[in-house]
Amino acid sequence: MNYSKKTVKDIDVKGKKVLLRCDFNVPQDKKTGEITDDKRIRAALPTIQYLLEQGAAVIACSHLGKPVATFDSYVKKQVEKGKNAEDITKEEWEKSLKKLSLKIVAARLSELLGQPVIMAEDVVGADAQAKAAALKPGEIMLLENTRFEKGETKNDPATAKAMADMAEVYVSDAFGAVHRAHASTAGVADYLPAVSGFLIQKELEIIGGALANPKRPLVAILGGSKVSSKIGVINNLLEIADTIIIGGGMAYTFSAADGGKVGDSLLEADWMDYAKEMVAKAAAKGVKLLLPIDTVIANAFAPDAESKVVAAGEIPDGWQGLDIGPKTVELYCNAVQDAGTVIWNGPMGVFEFAAFAKGTEAVAEALSKTSAITIIGGGDSAAAVQQLGYADKMTHISTGGGASLEFMEGKVLPGVACLLDK
Ligand code: ADP
Ligand code: MG
Repeated sequence: MNYSKKTVKDIDVKGKKVLLRCDFNVPQDKKTGEITDDKRIRAALPTIQYLLEQGAAVIACSHLGKPVATFDSYVKKQVEKGKNAEDITKEEWEKSLKKLSLKIVAARLSELLGQPVIMAEDVVGADAQAKAAALKPGEIMLLENTRFEKGETKNDPATAKAMADMAEVYVSDAFGAVHRAHASTAGVADYLPAVSGFLIQKELEIIGGALANPKRPLVAILGGSKVSSKIGVINNLLEIADTIIIGGGMAYTFSAADGGKVGDSLLEADWMDYAKEMVAKAAAKGVKLLLPIDTVIANAFAPDAESKVVAAGEIPDGWQGLDIGPKTVELYCNAVQDAGTVIWNGPMGVFEFAAFAKGTEAVAEALSKTSAITIIGGGDSAAAVQQLGYADKMTHISTGGGASLEFMEGKVLPGVACLLDK
C-alpha cells in the first residue's frame, strides 16, 4: 500500500464545501448518554480549525456506536437475543436510535470550537441537503450518525454519492475507521477529490514510515492475550523486524509448543504448530526472536491472587502465568535499548490487575527512555500505556485500535487506499 497521500495542505479548499469524515465514536455513559471522554472530538480540532481558517464550509460526519438502520433488522437482532418478535415496537427501535444521535457531539464540538455547529436531522435526507446547501465558508455543520443510513456499512454507491453530492472535496480524518470500506469512509472518494486530514497524515507518516523504511534496528514487541488474534501482525513483522519480542498470554502457546509446562495459563493448542513454525522461520531469516525466560504465576485469575515467579515452562497445574518475570523484564528492556524503532502491540501481562502490570510498566518505562522511535498500536496497548502514565513519552500512540492492527498486518486500508496519492 502507498502511504504517501495528499493532505488538506495539498488541495485548495477556500470557499469550498468539504465533507469531513471524523471519528466521533465517543464513549458514553450508559444511563445518561453523556460523553465520558471527549478525546476523539479534541483530536479532530486541528483539521477542522485549519479547514475553517482556510475559508472552507465544513460538513462533518461520523458514526457513533452500532445503531440498527432499519426496523426489520432491529427486530431480527432482538429475536436473536431471545426476545419475542411481537413484543418489539417501533418506538423502542426509534429510542435506540435516539441514544446514538450525534446531537450531543455537536454540542461538545461547538463548545470546543467556540462557534455554532449546525446539526442536521438526517445523513443525506432533505434536512441535511438544505443545511449543506445553505452552509457558508467558515461555518460548520454535522450530519447525523452515518450508520442511520442502511447504505453506510454496505458501502452502497447511492449513499456514498448522496453524501458526496453535498460537497466538493472529501477529507478523511477518521483513522479509527479506515479499515472499514463504508460509504462515508471510502465510497465517497469515488465521487470527490479525496485527501487526508492531520490525524491520518500522522498515522501514515509514523506507522507507514516504520513499516516501509524503518530506522533500524526495528524491534517489535508483541503481546496481548491470544496468538490467534495476532497472526497477521506476527507474519508481517517477521518480514521486516530485526528483533521480535513475545510476551503476554500468547507466550504460553510458544512455551507449550517447545514442550514447556504452562499449567492453567492461556493456551491455544491449535496454534502450537504455528508457534513452532514461527520460531523456525525467525531462525532461518536471522530475526532474533525473544521468548520469556521466567514468568509471574497466580493461583487464580484475580487481582489479589497469590503469586510467585517461576522459570518459563515450569508452571505447575492450578497456576497460570499472568505477567512476564523479572529476568525477562531485564532481557526485554536491554533488547530495546539500542533500537532505532520499536513497534509495540499487546501488553506483557494482565496489566488491568496492578499486581500483574509490572512487566508492561517496565517495558513502557524502557521505551520512554530510549532514543528510538516508539509506536504503540492496539486499543488495549494504548490504554495500558496511558493508564501507566507513559503516553506523552512515546513518539506515537495510534488513535485507531482495529485500524492500527490491520495497518501493522500490512493490509490495505480501504479508507487510506481511496485517498489521492501524493
Ligand atoms: P491490543 O488491544 O493492544 O491489540 P490485545 O487485545 O491483544 O491487545 O490484548 C490485551 C489483553 O491481553 C489485556 O486485556 C490483557 O489483560 C490480556 N493479557 C495479557 N497477558 C495475559 C496473560 N498472561 N493471560 C491472560 N490475558 C493476558
Ligand atoms: Mg484488544
